[in-house]
Amino acid sequence: MARRTGSSCRRRWYRKFLLLLLGLALFCAGFVLGSARAAEEENAARNIHMEEPAVGTTDDLLQPSSEEQQPSGGCLPEGETWELRLVNAAHVLPEDFQVPELTELYGGHAVDSRVYPALQRMMDDCRAEGLEPMICSSYRTRDKQEELFQNKMDSLLTQGYSREDAGDEAARWVARPGTSEHETGLAVDIVDTGYQLLDQRQETTPVQQWLMDNCAAYGFILRYPTDKSDLTGIGYEPWHYRYVGEEAARTIMEQGLCLEEYLDRWAGEMR
Ligand SMILES: [Zn+2]
Repeated sequence: MARRTGSSCRRRWYRKFLLLLLGLALFCAGFVLGSARAAEEENAARNIHMEEPAVGTTDDLLQPSSEEQQPSGGCLPEGETWELRLVNAAHVLPEDFQVPELTELYGGHAVDSRVYPALQRMMDDCRAEGLEPMICSSYRTRDKQEELFQNKMDSLLTQGYSREDAGDEAARWVARPGTSEHETGLAVDIVDTGYQLLDQRQETTPVQQWLMDNCAAYGFILRYPTDKSDLTGIGYEPWHYRYVGEEAARTIMEQGLCLEEYLDRWAGEMR
């Protein structure tokens, strides 16, 4: 009897010991995985040195346009690849659009993870020239774009605009939700740390001159050139860079096209 009690005590003790070991093993595995992930995220964030967002961000300034918004439903025609997705007033992103995976950067910024390595190289090489580029805008959620648009609407409504007029006027200055490239995670606004205002003078900064000359080698284009506003529907933005892949970027930048023109030609050749 005493022996049986002793043996059942030992069994209970072994069981507790095994459970303890198992718990310890699970805890260690979780800790190791968690640390690896944290290190990976930290590295990704650290690689692109992000400072505070630029002062006075007035992004996606729309030129007055007579074009009516004509949602096409699909912005990615058959045969196109993800990096050539067209987003503008006539090509609205689906409501449920989601970037497959984001890489977070300093300063609360993020980009589509597929674009991150090229962006990293471009920023590194620009800095290697002794320049100081700074990302001031990147991925935006649909909610964020709605908030920006609504803020503009509200300010117009308080100025006495009717609801309809306020909507039209707001759309001249802030991209309507679903029509901003920033929602794709493929676009970034980059300024020169020495001059952070988003206005035409930005084009004269050493950073913009380097970016305009070199962005295509990394698969980026200056998305809203000064002479293409009638086609893009958006005013000149010498700070908004969009990833389209190296091949398309070289053609677009070398031939002085905008993405709309390139896709028209490309689609034409495919027919
Ligand atoms: Zn932008």
